[in-house]
Amino acid sequence: MSLKLDFHPTGRHFLQIPGPSPVPDRILRAMSLPTIDHRGPEFGALGRRLLAEIRPLFKTQQPVVIYPGSGTGAWEAALANVLSPGDAVLMYETGHFAALWAKLATRLGLQPEILTWAGEDEHLPHAPGWRRGVQAELIEARLKKDTEKKIKAVCVVHNETSTGVTSDIAAVRRAIDAAGHPALLLVDTISGLGSADYRHDEWGVDVTISGSQKGLMMPPGIGFNVPSARAIEASNSAKLPKAYWAWDEMLEMNKDGYWPSTPNTNLLYGLSEALAMLREEGLDAVFARHQRWAAGVRAAVNAWGLPIQCADPAVYSPVLTGVIMPVGVDADAVRKLIYERFDLSLGTGLGKLKGRMFRIGHLGDSNDLTLVATLAGCEMGLRLAGVKLKDSGLPAAMAFFAEHPVPALKTKD
Ligand code: PLP
Repeated sequence: MSLKLDFHPTGRHFLQIPGPSPVPDRILRAMSLPTIDHRGPEFGALGRRLLAEIRPLFKTQQPVVIYPGSGTGAWEAALANVLSPGDAVLMYETGHFAALWAKLATRLGLQPEILTWAGEDEHLPHAPGWRRGVQAELIEARLKKDTEKKIKAVCVVHNETSTGVTSDIAAVRRAIDAAGHPALLLVDTISGLGSADYRHDEWGVDVTISGSQKGLMMPPGIGFNVPSARAIEASNSAKLPKAYWAWDEMLEMNKDGYWPSTPNTNLLYGLSEALAMLREEGLDAVFARHQRWAAGVRAAVNAWGLPIQCADPAVYSPVLTGVIMPVGVDADAVRKLIYERFDLSLGTGLGKLKGRMFRIGHLGDSNDLTLVATLAGCEMGLRLAGVKLKDSGLPAAMAFFAEHPVPALKTKD
């Protein structure tokens, strides 16, 4: 049976959601190679190479655990490996994904305590904390009060995909240290990895959690954990039930390049290609590229006169931009219109943001013209939906991209 693709008209669909991101042809081609024996010698060589090549992406000397699974699975893996039933965990809510992680923690039998910023917000008075990054001083103050050291872990999201807000992970580590608290630091960089700088070792992260379908430009299906030495030690005595997600068997078998169960071989081919592409471009150039795309998109949103979901310019996400709709405009109706008229998928408002905003993804296999076309689709749709715009955003984005050329690509010797 052939796959029926009659839901897209002519031309290329614009997948401008903040992940899964458009997959480059190089990666698609790499994944089309024949599946090999996952217990054979060829696979062991691939596994050993990949497990070494993935470390620089997380800026770590630690082992990286690669699971066939989604980001949610990797969240569960992180908690299940280092915590015990009833443990208190401090979870900072920056948006919908942070809230979902806390829900998962509850379902695992942990006791999450939610911290969030609760100041005034003009545009989203019901969700002020969903417009800002982690306020590390709130974490420090809470940990200082925990004199009995009941809190076993602090959980934060590096790039909150539901809002387009990043958080300063080094500042969170400093806050934990300043409180003299032994809690482990668990960080979700599911949508930050490969688009925004991330430093597992330098920032003193105990477990990093990530996935394949965002900055790695791959399809969904791989989840990552990076445990610190302290986290591995904690996993030896942690009592939450763990089997599939347990690090011990995985780390043991990974030493020879194999997995305890069947790995997703073809996605691993894709991962190998994705890592090669990121290496060829250079990580700093990759991060600068995403910052530049984000700035071009924000130039258009600012010209429209619509508020950006992230209220703090210091922590704008390089991965996506959230656009808040005027009160009374249903953001999902605008998205639907844009999808139906212009074959462009935008991210929906999640949780507390449902109907209030939409998200423009600027990651994966994109370029300046993809983004200008995306903004054109948004602008046409906003006008058709009757949203009053201050100005056209297109000249602003075009001027930004034209006036900020991409620095010359690093050439190989
Ligand atoms: N955390 C963040 C920041 C995410 O963006 C996502 C998914 O978009 C998840 C967790 C959940 O990952 P998954 O949907 O792959 O299970």
